[in-house]
Amino acid sequence: DGDDGASAIRALDESTVRKIAAGEVVERPASAVKELVENSLDADASRVAVAVERGGVDGLRVRDDGVGMTASELELAVEEHTTSKIRGVDDLDGGVESLGFRGEALYTIGAVSELTVRSKARGSAGAGNELTVEFGDAGEVRPAGCPEGTTVEVDELFANTPARKKFLKTDATEFDHVNTVVTQYALANPDVAVSLDHDGREVFATEGRGSLESAVLSVYGREVAESMVRVDEEPEPDAVASVSGLVSHPETTRAGREYMSTFVNGRYVTASVLREAVLDAYGGQLAPNRYPFAVLFVEVPPDAVDVNVHPRKLEVRFDAEGTVKRAVSEAVEEALLDHGLLRSTAPRG
Ligand code: ADP
Ligand code: MG
Repeated sequence: DGDDGASAIRALDESTVRKIAAGEVVERPASAVKELVENSLDADASRVAVAVERGGVDGLRVRDDGVGMTASELELAVEEHTTSKIRGVDDLDGGVESLGFRGEALYTIGAVSELTVRSKARGSAGAGNELTVEFGDAGEVRPAGCPEGTTVEVDELFANTPARKKFLKTDATEFDHVNTVVTQYALANPDVAVSLDHDGREVFATEGRGSLESAVLSVYGREVAESMVRVDEEPEPDAVASVSGLVSHPETTRAGREYMSTFVNGRYVTASVLREAVLDAYGGQLAPNRYPFAVLFVEVPPDAVDVNVHPRKLEVRFDAEGTVKRAVSEAVEEALLDHGLLRSTAPRG
């Protein structure tokens, strides 16, 4: 009847809206870990310790020694669209230096979990403070003894969104995602000591001594680290891309999972063109279905790359795709040749 027609379109209640929005930011434990690690790095941390239980499904914790928050900052931090990183759209035009700026991570994680944030501002006297948000309900800030910096704990993730919880894969797969995320930040920030524990066992811990080599050693182990060679292309004045990093000996490879990390202008990205560029450089020298290890930093002018396919997606596109691909391929090939790791091929025409 007429009433049914009138009610076909209706406004969603606030808690439903919040849950939908949260699902776009936090789709699995690894996405929460990513947001929290970015917050720690933005907070000038020199140590970031990540610990997860059963792939993060049974709880995750990120602890840092960064600038921390005062009681009033802590109260604001978990609210919607609160950020200390930008003030308005003008700041966006200038290019954002921080990893976060939307002010939605803590709020949305708090909407779908039991979130506890414990923090003490750097250089402040006395104890720190703690605040718990239970599925969107923020409690009171109360004093809590803690070291300078911030610890964020996420429990009961998706307990109030069963549909989302059902989409989670096995603990092993969820842990793989967490491991990939933490690994990328560890490699991209060799001056920060980044560690990852799973079910009480240390998976890796970098020393934060500043060299990419030592970060690779901690993350991938000695065999891989010793097989890596430096890629260091001298940037030519008119070069579209400068490329640096480490790549492995053609015989130090893995089957199945790929260990090729690419960072464009400091941001971890996936781009099939970069992956192909690396593989091309090895020519026919990789065994079938075997992939090398690579950690490559590609710098391009900001307007030559489109990261805004979706701000949270990792895939990027380049304007001059062919030119970037060639630059990466040549840099990797040159490094391998310099170290005598490629069988000589016919000179390129
Ligand atoms: P964003 O990172 O986009 O600003 P978040 O919701 O992730 O939004 O965080 C909100 C605010 O809380 C941050 O802008 C920052 O001021 C504060 N904050 C969050 N995590 C930390 C942390 N680990 N150390 C210090 N401050 C933090
Ligand atoms: Mg953030």
